[in-house]
Amino acid sequence: MKRLTHGILFAVFIILGTLLAACSAIPAHLSAPKAPLIIDVIDIGQGDASLIRTAKEVILIDTGDVPARGKLVDYLKKQGITTIDKVIITHPHADHLGGMASVLENFTVKQIYDSGQTTTTALYRQYLSTVKKRKIPFAVLAAGDQLDFGGGVTFKVFGPQKPYISDSELNNNSIVGKLIYGQFSMLFTGDAEKEAEERLQKNYASELRTNVLKSPHHGSRTSSSWPFLKEVSPDAITISAGADNEYQHPHTVTLKKYTELKAQIYRTDLNGSIRITSDGKTYQMIKEKP
Ligand SMILES: [Zn+2]
Repeated sequence: MKRLTHGILFAVFIILGTLLAACSAIPAHLSAPKAPLIIDVIDIGQGDASLIRTAKEVILIDTGDVPARGKLVDYLKKQGITTIDKVIITHPHADHLGGMASVLENFTVKQIYDSGQTTTTALYRQYLSTVKKRKIPFAVLAAGDQLDFGGGVTFKVFGPQKPYISDSELNNNSIVGKLIYGQFSMLFTGDAEKEAEERLQKNYASELRTNVLKSPHHGSRTSSSWPFLKEVSPDAITISAGADNEYQHPHTVTLKKYTELKAQIYRTDLNGSIRITSDGKTYQMIKEKP
């Protein structure tokens, strides 16, 4: 009886040991919650950065601003990210392009897309030269394109529409795209403003309806025009804005519109990072700071 007890204890010990060894060997990226689609609207202060994970790919839309580089890299590393299949830069303003140098330094990037808009800033020139030097595949996105994010997730590009609204209008020529996974969808808008919204409404009216809208231009009053919002008719809106930012984003007039729409509002300045998960039928949204 005693020997049997010892035998059982030993067996339990071996099983526990094996389990513990297996646990410690689990790569960090598997510690992320399991869902066929995970979208993190990352709190990186004033700027945009959204991490999208499908069953097959890791995609980053925008990279935040220069001062938030460390925060972005930490966030991605904590999620166990080592390779990013696609980086999409919606437009070359610093609060979207600023983290790119650190992303390229710390992660393997397989493909880069941008809006094709150029600017004269040192930040932009450095980005271009790094991409060329490292020979990273690079392509320009425009309305009509469609990307495959893997695992049944697609990204339909609605903007920028050609001819461009004007070469100097970086915000209005932002990449705008609708992520679609089964019955779930989210509209990414970069910093599109009223003029771009009018074009979207004119050319993509029937396709604009989405579950979740990424607030255009951080909730600025120059975006989120009523006709556009009514067409999109989102159930939830995420706003990426820094706490007490100098632009006063999101503007109160815009927040009032969102409330009138009866959309749930999620703000990175108040709620921290926002996670959206979906199985293609339903979706959940979690705030870092409830
Ligand atoms: Zn911006």
